[in-house]
Amino acid sequence: MAQAQPRMPVEHGAPDPMPFMHPLMKKNYGKWVYHSHPKPGVLMHRAANGEEIWTVKAGTQRQMDHYTIRKLCDIGDQYADGHVRFTTRSNIEFMVADKKKVDPLIKALTDAGFPVGGTANSVSMIAHTQGFLHCDIPGTDASGAVKALMDELYEDFIKCEMPSRVKLSTSCCEINCGGQADIAIIMQHTKPPKINHDLVANVCERPAVVARCPVAAIRPALVNGKPSLEVDEKKCVCCGACYPPCPPMQINDPVNSKLAIWVGGKNSNARIKPTFHKLVASGLPNNPPRWPEVSEVVKKILYTYKADARPWERMADWVERIGWPAFFKKTGLPFTKYHIDDWRGSRYTLNASAHIRF
Ligand code: SF4
Ligand code: SF4
Repeated sequence: MAQAQPRMPVEHGAPDPMPFMHPLMKKNYGKWVYHSHPKPGVLMHRAANGEEIWTVKAGTQRQMDHYTIRKLCDIGDQYADGHVRFTTRSNIEFMVADKKKVDPLIKALTDAGFPVGGTANSVSMIAHTQGFLHCDIPGTDASGAVKALMDELYEDFIKCEMPSRVKLSTSCCEINCGGQADIAIIMQHTKPPKINHDLVANVCERPAVVARCPVAAIRPALVNGKPSLEVDEKKCVCCGACYPPCPPMQINDPVNSKLAIWVGGKNSNARIKPTFHKLVASGLPNNPPRWPEVSEVVKKILYTYKADARPWERMADWVERIGWPAFFKKTGLPFTKYHIDDWRGSRYTLNASAHIRF
């Protein structure tokens, strides 16, 4: 009888980029000596042997139909060297080894409706989460809010007129894959979940749900003779963490699920160390299809920063220099009781709060 073979793990990480890389990039791998930024959306890298590669970045939506992908690939074949890559912010980049190909490539992209930009001190494409297309717990359509906002920030994407680079993000729930950003738009639940007791026993693994709550607000309970759960609403911080493992604990609500804006997060070590973003506006209506209230607040913050920050000062650097009281004064955003971190676990986070400084 054949010996049972151990089942080998399947790696789902990022694929090896080498087979797909532009030949010139492969040839000069690890030998690039400097790069420059000749104009918005274009980068030039020079290798030690003098060879150059030109990169053109175009704005694309994160979720694309195959007609759009084919169109982009056709442009890559016809005007570039047949190699493309996507950035973490869902932009497409075309690489060419010949400088003369750069302008025709830009023309082909803009003629086809893809803006070229997003480099250096521009507003880069908004990093955003999956929304209703891929995920089972979103409270809003992150991609829709991105589209509405980037339509309004088009000029800021194609021009490099910001004090420094500006990275935006949107997240369609409060707890999972949202990132830190100069300006982040994040789902905000304001009421505890409503429990459908008829379904809990059939659908949810109750110990897992109880363990999931960060403030121990969920208890097992017998309701109408059936095993179910109950929530201590005084303790609940409306984080939404119970909804993914237990969909009958519905927290999404057309009126009470809102959007909040956070400012000053960054993942890089440029000038100052990485920072966490801080809440600056809360309770904005989740108002599809264009989310005008969100766009208004984002633009207010963005253009105040543009007018007031010093050259190459990131949003977090700017706020650090002027202080949060001045931030609220200059942007005209109201400072309310909802900005105060009064969560009972805040004994650990108080010194990290945006608004209480010792
Ligand atoms: S942010 Fe939350 S809802 Fe949105 S895709 Fe990530 S896990 Fe899903
Ligand atoms: S929403 Fe968050 S805090 Fe409230 S019960 Fe669910 S897990 Fe606990």
